[in-house]
Amino acid sequence: MDKRKISNICFAAAILLFAIGMIHKEWTEHDSKNTAEQQDKVKNIIFIIGDGMGADQMNLVQAPNHFERSHSIGFSKTYSASNRVTDSAAGGTALACGVKTNNGVLGMNADSVPVQSIMQELRQSGLATGEVASCRITHATPAAFYAHQINRGMDAEILQDLYKYGPDVFVAGGNKLLVPDSLTQAGYQVVFSLDSMATINSGKVACILAEEDMPTSPMRGDTIRKGVEQAIRLLEKDEDGFFLFIEGSQIDWAGHGNEGERLRAEMQDINRVIGYCMDYADTHPGTLVFITADHETGGLSLPGEEMTPAFTTGQHSGVMVPFYAYGTGANQLTGVHENTDFKALLLSLMRINE
Ligand SMILES: [Zn+2]
Repeated sequence: MDKRKISNICFAAAILLFAIGMIHKEWTEHDSKNTAEQQDKVKNIIFIIGDGMGADQMNLVQAPNHFERSHSIGFSKTYSASNRVTDSAAGGTALACGVKTNNGVLGMNADSVPVQSIMQELRQSGLATGEVASCRITHATPAAFYAHQINRGMDAEILQDLYKYGPDVFVAGGNKLLVPDSLTQAGYQVVFSLDSMATINSGKVACILAEEDMPTSPMRGDTIRKGVEQAIRLLEKDEDGFFLFIEGSQIDWAGHGNEGERLRAEMQDINRVIGYCMDYADTHPGTLVFITADHETGGLSLPGEEMTPAFTTGQHSGVMVPFYAYGTGANQLTGVHENTDFKALLLSLMRINE
């Protein structure tokens, strides 16, 4: 063989080796990407709303402050279709259904067309669903996840939506409005204490703990955290995963009343609940905890060395509110967002609607 032939063969061999190397690299990267995607796949979502919970409300939490465990943080723009300052119906609808609507409207867009909530879509995909709130189950924020009505005050119609589209499991107040027979016809087992709920192991459960709203914190003790524990115990039996909505409903009412100490107690309560849910996410990979507010209430500030709560309004304010994510997929939730973005973002992390 002459020198030229040998050098040509060497050149061809080098190209072949280079090509094999590139293909191998592609395959390896493809494989590791697939593995990472699988690890990022969210199976369970715990969606927590602190009603009226702005940044300074979170500053009232004493150590351990569980909000600080999240490294995925951003801001949510809360204005509604009709107002710079939203109410809880439009704010809840934006978070639940992904559409801006007019103040007072539940589960419909600004043209009064019903829109499915993230909870309803996930239920159709086979996930178990639940709600735990310290207010009555028909109140604006929990109702935004199951009801479709043009006015949040339409209690009778909202009740009918609860019977038709309500979550599999709920723990809340509202006994005065709820009709046990209608709940039973809708397939619910109706109980009036968490101890009774603890004896149930499957099926739909309505756990009603107050005539209207639950007592304020600290009077209601650890009821919300225990309610969350009971709800998760039932929901996690579904192999497809679960969606659990939790509301710290009375943070808002302490803001409306400009009651600093009550606000501090409500924030301690939601902080305990958040810590419990984050611990659950630590031990149950595939669980994402998402925390935000529908709006801020009270225009809170914490001036002086004592950081004594000072309020600038008895109403909601139009400021952006923080959001926090923790657990599987959390690193994909950061930045400044419209409050209507989260439904699609969370669903995409579950690889639904892609
Ligand atoms: Zn309010």
